[in-house]
This record gives sequence, C-alpha cells and structure tokens, in this order.
Amino acid sequence: MSSRPLSIHSIMSALPQSQCRQCGYDGCWPYARAIVQGKARLDLCTPGGAATQRQLVALCGSAPAATTTGPSADAPPALAVVAIDAGECIGCGRCLPVCPVDAIAGAVGFLHAVLPHACTGCQLCLPGCPADCFIPAPGEPQAPARLARYRYARKHRRLLRATRPESRRTAVERKRREIADALTRVKSRRGWQKGAGELARKPSQP
Ligand code: SF4
Ligand code: SF4
Ligand code: SF4
Repeated sequence: MSSRPLSIHSIMSALPQSQCRQCGYDGCWPYARAIVQGKARLDLCTPGGAATQRQLVALCGSAPAATTTGPSADAPPALAVVAIDAGECIGCGRCLPVCPVDAIAGAVGFLHAVLPHACTGCQLCLPGCPADCFIPAPGEPQAPARLARYRYARKHRRLLRATRPESRRTAVERKRREIADALTRVKSRRGWQKGAGELARKPSQP
C-alpha cells in the first residue's frame, strides 16, 4: 500500500497513453481523473494489461478506486501503428477529427497520410473510413507515451479554444475591423461613382 498522495499526474504516468478509449473514457486523462475521484475501476485499461493494473493498485492503495473486479491479461494485445493506402484514399477528411493525437495529415480533397512517429495504434480511425484504406504499418513503433500525452493535450486545448465563446475584447476588435472594411468599401464605391459622373458630364469630342 502506498503512502504517496493520489494525484492525477501519478495515475497518468502509469497509463500507456494510447488514447484508445478501450477503458470507456475519452482518453487516458479522463480515465485518470475518474480514478482519482474514486469513480473508476483500476482494471479497465486493456492495452496496459496487468502491469498497469498493478501500478494503479500500488498508487491508489486503499482509495475506493482500488477495487478491481475484471480480468487483465499479462500480455496485453499490442496496438498496431497504421498507414494509409495512397491508392485508396478519397480525401474525404473523416479521419482527421477522429484521431486523438492528430497523427493524420491532410486536407479535404487531398490524399491523407499517417505521421508514423505520432501514431499510437489506437485504431480509432479505422471504422469511419469509407474507403477502408487504413493498413498496418509493420515495424513502426508506437508513439512514445510522453509524445502521445503531449499531442492529446494539445488537440484537446485546440478544440476547447474553438468552442469557447468569443471574448468581449475580441468581439470589439472584430466589430472595428468590420466597420473599417465597410467604410473602405463605401469610399471606393463613391470614388468610382464620382469618377463615372465626371466622365458622363464631360462634353463629347466632335
Ligand atoms: S490507453 Fe486506452 S484504455 Fe488505457 S487508459 Fe488510455 S485510453 Fe484508456
Ligand atoms: S492514425 Fe489512427 S491509429 Fe494512429 S493514432 Fe490516429 S486514430 Fe489512432
Ligand atoms: S477517412 Fe479514409 S478515405 Fe477519408 S481521408 Fe481518411 S484515409 Fe482517406
């Protein structure tokens, strides 16, 4: 039993950071948070297997979350890094939002590719691909846990920023820009109209 205080960071360091959601949570961080809050069992991380479970039990000690009930394999199934079959990809872009660590590069209408150094092998991109073009990338190691954790957090922050309501200051600056643009458009139209009027009044040449 450990006397260390239970912190979300210590729990995170015991998780493999595959971000695969096999635990039923949206990634390693939400699962770690649920453990710290005493709301989650310690045997839900399939990729981590028995080794992760033992670490979690040691960290949690007698915390309520230490109650484990499910089996865990000693040799957890390895997650496989994937690649995109360039001949099959139709560039639909559906896989981009799905990847929890932004390991897919591409834009709608163009060929996509997996960044092998960043792929955790979570397989979350497979079911949504209409062209079934994800293939195993044999020999490619999974992204290191630190990198996967960093990339997951970075994507999470980016998505949060995108959904946050506009701040008052940003709204005022946007309004100013819109007014300035409108004034510029009106002035250029008046200038054009004035020029056209002068041309119309000009006496025609014999
Ligand atoms: S590796 Fe997958 S199953 Fe394990 S905690 Fe992270 S998201 Fe959950
Ligand atoms: S490319 Fe696919 S398998 Fe790799 S991390 Fe992204 S979603 Fe997971
Ligand atoms: S979902 Fe499949 S077909 Fe669509 S862009 Fe991604 S890899 Fe290409």
